[in-house]
Amino acid sequence: MSDRQTIRANLDSIRERIAQACRQAGRDPQDVSLLLATKTVPPERIAIALESGCSLIGENKVQEFRAKTEPLRGFECRRHFIGHLQTNKINEVLNHVDCIQSIDSLHLAEKIDRRLAVLGRELDVFVQVNTSNEDSKFGISPDKAAALVTQIAALENLRVRGLMTIGKLFAAGPQARPCFALLRTIRDDLRSRNIAGVDLQHLSMGMTPDFEAAIMEGATIVRIGAAIFGARPTPPGIFWNEQDRQATT
Ligand SMILES: *Cc1c(COP(=O)(O)O)cnc(C)c1O
Repeated sequence: MSDRQTIRANLDSIRERIAQACRQAGRDPQDVSLLLATKTVPPERIAIALESGCSLIGENKVQEFRAKTEPLRGFECRRHFIGHLQTNKINEVLNHVDCIQSIDSLHLAEKIDRRLAVLGRELDVFVQVNTSNEDSKFGISPDKAAALVTQIAALENLRVRGLMTIGKLFAAGPQARPCFALLRTIRDDLRSRNIAGVDLQHLSMGMTPDFEAAIMEGATIVRIGAAIFGARPTPPGIFWNEQDRQATT
């Protein structure tokens, strides 16, 4: 099979699995969006997926957005930032994205808010929660998530539209499920508080090994890379912790 055929076949199979998980959960497949996790994937290969009906991509690194925005300019797609954002990259990331899913501190949120004020624009954001309590991952701890959402809601230019998490790594899908259940619980709790300016439409959770479990727990965005584009040479954790990266390279 050509690379094009492989990517298309992979997409068909992922869509079928999403539909199947939705049936099992009694949910409408329309309520689950597929985000292409495109780290390390060259724009020509991303283009194949966009031509096949995908319209949402996520990158972990600002420099990858910088390199790929121009080659993919012809495509109608939304761009989400899903990696750890360093504050010195804020100005640049705002040139490329419609949403930042990885807000995990008030400091970061305030800096983005100030920059947005200068630009005269608003931005959708998700708060990233560390539901597995693994040190190697970013995200606010579950017990502090509600307070952070409340503080971000008070900022002028950020609209809190969802929560994001990475399930327990290297666990089989079903073992990550408690992480996803926890994120849903946090969402439900926040919804019941009716915080002004907060509209938690999205639960962004589930990746190649565990997206079906995430759909069972209410994911509205699943972020999938390897099952569509093939295995990456580097494990995903490398993209979540610079110190690990330095230690292993
Ligand atoms: C890489 C990545 C994904 C997708 O992981 P796959 O195993 O390739 O499906 C999802 N979310 C984040 C934050 C990622 O970095």
